[in-house]
Amino acid sequence: MVNQSKNEQHIVIVGGGLAGLSAAEWLLRQEVPPKITIIESTGRLGGVIETVSQGEWLMERSADSFLSVRPEGIELVKRLGITEDLISINPEARRALIWSSQKGGGSGALLPVPTGFRLLAPGRIIPFLRSNILSCFGRLRVAWERFIPQRTHHDVDESLESFAVRRLGQEAFDKLVQPLVSGIWTADPSRLSMAAACPEFLKMEQDWGSLTKGEKKRVAQANGSRDASGARYGQFVSFKHGMQTLIDALESRLRSAGVLVVQDQVRSLQRDGSQWQVFLGNQAIRADGVVLGVPASTAATIVSTVSPNLSAELKMIEFAGAAVVSLGFDQQDVSHSLRAAGMIIPKVAGKRILAASFSSSKFPGRAPPDAVLIRTFIGGALDMGIASLADEEVVKEVLIDLRTTIGLHGNPSIVQVDRWHRSMPQYNIGHVERMKKIRQAEAQLQSFGLAGSAYEGVGIPQVIQSGQMAAANAIKDQAMSE
Ligand SMILES: Cc1cc2nc3c(=O)[nH]c(=O)nc-3n(C[C@H](O)[C@H](O)[C@H](O)COP(=O)(O)OP(=O)(O)OC[C@H]3O[C@@H](n4cnc5c(N)ncnc54)[C@H](O)[C@@H]3O)c2cc1C
Repeated sequence: MVNQSKNEQHIVIVGGGLAGLSAAEWLLRQEVPPKITIIESTGRLGGVIETVSQGEWLMERSADSFLSVRPEGIELVKRLGITEDLISINPEARRALIWSSQKGGGSGALLPVPTGFRLLAPGRIIPFLRSNILSCFGRLRVAWERFIPQRTHHDVDESLESFAVRRLGQEAFDKLVQPLVSGIWTADPSRLSMAAACPEFLKMEQDWGSLTKGEKKRVAQANGSRDASGARYGQFVSFKHGMQTLIDALESRLRSAGVLVVQDQVRSLQRDGSQWQVFLGNQAIRADGVVLGVPASTAATIVSTVSPNLSAELKMIEFAGAAVVSLGFDQQDVSHSLRAAGMIIPKVAGKRILAASFSSSKFPGRAPPDAVLIRTFIGGALDMGIASLADEEVVKEVLIDLRTTIGLHGNPSIVQVDRWHRSMPQYNIGHVERMKKIRQAEAQLQSFGLAGSAYEGVGIPQVIQSGQMAAANAIKDQAMSE
C-alpha cells in the first residue's frame, strides 16, 4: 500500500490507457509517492490495447508489437518483471511485402521491399536497382537522390508527400513510401507534417544533404543490419500471450500499490485555490495535480473553462478512424507462403485495405496448427467512408482484396472486427508549432500534465514517455511550493 500521510498529495489521472497507466507507474517510483486515483470511463484499463483469445486464436485489437530500440518500453517491461514474456518477430518473417501492380490492372504480385530501404531512406542502392517494384526510370530516380540539392528554407513545414516526391521521385512515393507510411499513421501524406512525423529523415537531409548518405551513416554508427527492409523488424517485440501482458502487469503493479481506479467519465476541471476540482458524472474529486491521458478532443472539452486557449489548440488536432479485421483461415486456403511480417498496399493499386500483418508468421502462438491468422487494416484518413460500413461489409471488402493479393480461396473460420473511430491522431502540417502552443498553455496551468498519442509520438514507447512527463508536470509545482 502507498504510505499515506496527512499532507499526502493526491494526483488524479484521467484515462486508464497506456499513457495514464505509465503516469501512475512513474508517480509510484518517486521518493514520496502521492495518493493516485485513475478515472477511466470504460472501467477497463489499457485503452486501445487489448488482446482477445478464442481457443487457440490470439488476436490484438490494436497494437501488436512495439519498438525495442527506444528505452521507455523495454525499461517498463523490466521494471514490471515481464522480460521473460517478451518475444521478437520470427527471423524468417522479418521482411515486408508490397503489392506491385500495373497501372489500372487488377493483376500484380507481392514483392519484398528492397533490402536496406527504411520508410523514406534507401540505405542500399544495388538491391533497389534489382527490385522490380519501380520502373527502370523510377529506380534510377531513387539512385539519383544523393545528387538532389537539399531544401534551403527549413522553417516552412513540409508535407511528407512533398518531401518524398522531391527527394525520391513521384513513382517511389506512390509505390513505396505512401503505403509504408499509411501502414503506420493511416494518414493523408499530402497533409502529414515531416517535422512532426518523420523528424529523423528531415534531419538526415539537413545533416548529410541526402537520405541515401544519411541512412548509410546511421547504419554504420548503429552497427546494425542493413539487410532488414521496410521497418526494422528485428527491433519489434511483443509478448507470448499478447500485448495484454503489459496492461495486466501494469494494472497489478498499480493496484497492489493502492492506486484507486474509479469508473466514471470526467467532464470538466476547475481550479479551487491551490487545488483542482475534477468533475465526474455526479460528483467532484479534489486533487493537487491532474494528468489528462484522454484523446486530445476529449481533453479539449475537459479544459475548456480553465484554459480556452489550450482547448482551442487541442481541438485543432485531427483524428482518423480505421478498422482492424483479424481473420483466421486454414493454411491450405491461402496459396501464398506468407513468409513475411505482412504486406502493404499502395493507394495507386486501387484496393481498399491499407496493410495486413501475417500475425501467425510474425509471432508464435497466434493460430492453431495448420491455420493462419491475418490482421488487415482498412480506413484511415484517405478512406473515411469505412466508418459508415457495417462490419459484414468491411469483412467483404477485406476478403476481396485478400483473394487477389495472397491467393485466398476459402472462407474465414474466425472473424474479429475492431472499429477505431477517431483514434488515430494525425500529425498534420503545423503540428510542431501547435505543440509549442499546447506545451506553453499546459505550463501555465499549475500541477497539470497532458499525455497520450496525440502529441509527440503515437508509438508505445513515446506514449509511455508522454505519461511519465505529464506525471512529472502534475507534481512539479507542488514540489516547488513545498
Ligand atoms: C489500431 C491501432 C493499432 C496500433 N498499433 C500499434 C503498434 O503496433 N505499435 C505501437 O507502438 N503502437 C500502436 N498503436 C498506437 C498505440 O497503441 C497508442 O498510441 C496508445 O496505446 C495510446 O494510448 P493512450 O493512453 O494515449 O490512449 P487510449 O488507449 O485511447 O486511452 C485513453 C483512455 O481514456 C479513456 N477516456 C476517454 N475519455 C475519458 C473521460 N472523459 N473520462 C475518463 N476516461 C476517459 C478511454 O476510455 C481510454 O481508456 C496502435 C493504435 C491503434 C488505434
